[in-house]
Amino acid sequence: MADDWKQKYLTCLDRQEQSEAEWQAAESLLRQGLTRVALAAQGIDARLDRELDRLRKAIRSGATAQALEPIIEDIADAVVRLDEQRAAEAAGPTAQAVLADWVDTLALPQVPRASLRRLRRRFVQAGDATQLEAPLRELAELLGSEAGAAPAGLMQRLFGQRGGVAGEAGEAGGVEDEADAGASPGDASAPVAEFCIQLLDTLSLPSELEEEAERLRERLAAGLVEQGIAPALAALADLISRMRLQMEAEKAELQAFLRQLTGGLQDLDQSLAGAKDRQRDAVDSSRELSKAVRAQVQHIETSVDETDDPQQLKQAVQQRLEAIRRHLDEYRESDEARQQRLEAELVALNQRVQEMEREGEQLRERLREKHEQAVHDPLTGLYNRLAFDERMAQEFARWKRYRQPMVLLVVDIDRFKRINDTYGHKAGDKALKIIAERILGEVRESDFLARYGGEEFVILMPETTLADGRQVADKLRANVAKSQFHYQGEAVTITVSLGVAAPREGDTPESLFQRADQALYRAKESGRDRVVSEDEL
Ligand code: GH3
Ligand code: MG
Ligand code: MG
Repeated sequence: MADDWKQKYLTCLDRQEQSEAEWQAAESLLRQGLTRVALAAQGIDARLDRELDRLRKAIRSGATAQALEPIIEDIADAVVRLDEQRAAEAAGPTAQAVLADWVDTLALPQVPRASLRRLRRRFVQAGDATQLEAPLRELAELLGSEAGAAPAGLMQRLFGQRGGVAGEAGEAGGVEDEADAGASPGDASAPVAEFCIQLLDTLSLPSELEEEAERLRERLAAGLVEQGIAPALAALADLISRMRLQMEAEKAELQAFLRQLTGGLQDLDQSLAGAKDRQRDAVDSSRELSKAVRAQVQHIETSVDETDDPQQLKQAVQQRLEAIRRHLDEYRESDEARQQRLEAELVALNQRVQEMEREGEQLRERLREKHEQAVHDPLTGLYNRLAFDERMAQEFARWKRYRQPMVLLVVDIDRFKRINDTYGHKAGDKALKIIAERILGEVRESDFLARYGGEEFVILMPETTLADGRQVADKLRANVAKSQFHYQGEAVTITVSLGVAAPREGDTPESLFQRADQALYRAKESGRDRVVSEDEL
């Protein structure tokens, strides 16, 4: 009979140990889940990585919700900054500089010089493209009042000073030959329209606004009458304003998401604390049970020592055993209730961990999408200039270290303006896409192709000599030249010119690019549909 009780007691202890093991398994699962959430967003940005590292360390050292909250806030902050930085890098400096330069050249008799100077400063000081909206509206107003007051010859006064902003801003502007000068249809406002199109091209618009931008582009490409200038600038300002709103909405969405994640972490921490309490209760009551059992056994031993009367002894032992049984029953009942609570908590915790893993996965997906958007050109799907600058810096650093050969190709479509002018901007876009595909088909997986801007592409070829690079360039050129494009039933040939250069002692990424660009310029000068390598300069 005593054996029976001992057995029950041992079973109870077993269960105690088992629930402890289950608890530990749940806790480590939970920690794994959190760590995975943090790992999910790793590798996108150095600062974000540092914050995520802090989060993982805090989780590992068993930090409480209160300790975790400021870390999560920092992470939210890092993500938002990352967004802002990308948007500014992608959209900013060019538009600001272009506008400031333009304002510099304006001579408007009706407008005091000081107003223009102030306006110019506002363009320069615009932190990013989204801040261009207000100064653009002001410019539109100034031009509107100028046109109203002295309509005749406004164009000459706006652009007379340097014979067309578009020609000035274009990379190969100076190569224009006689036939090209003033080739655009329509009136004298073509330079303003061209200028606005270039400005539009510098904005990195979210895909939702692309269509509207396209409409504005078409309107501009069709040419502007003088009265149309101010409204066109205002429309541009509207577009920028909508772009800003969109960016803000995205930011808010991401912040809300992170806040939700913080809430999730707090819930988890609370459940953890509750489960720990229950664990402690269980340990306490099992200790009490063991104490009580020990005391009863002690009584039995004393009774055996002190009592001679078997009847009395039997009664005493029975009483004690009865007491032990009561203790065990009580313990079992409370243990079962505890066990049930613990099991329910384990199930809830498991669910929460799974939810957090899902949320972490979503967050990673969103961040990945954002990064992809920031480094790609929406029209051709190729990498953009931002991505090129990053890759160029990497490849160049590698070249400096290992001196493996590497080569840079700059590709520019010949007389692309004519395609736009003759068949429309939409047809031009289509041609750009097709040519981008052709070029992509010519390069190897290890080469890096990007749309550098407008109708210009760049290709970085690691492990390639200047001579080999030149050969690839020529194959690429021939391939584009032999494909026919069809517009309005007409077969049109489009050609490209290329400049090729390889890094030399003392080079920087900029000086390397400059030499490739010079080679391209020479190719244009000597007739287009050509490749010029820097050693032929
Ligand atoms: P060149 O042979 O000297 O390179 O002549 P070009 O006409 O190609 O050169 P220019 O730099 O004078 O003009 C480039 C044109 O490319 C002007 C611009 O409207 C057009 N362009 C730039 N980006 C885009 C775009 O995204 N879509 C379309 N359709 N046209 C674009
Ligand atoms: Mg060009
Ligand atoms: Mg061109």
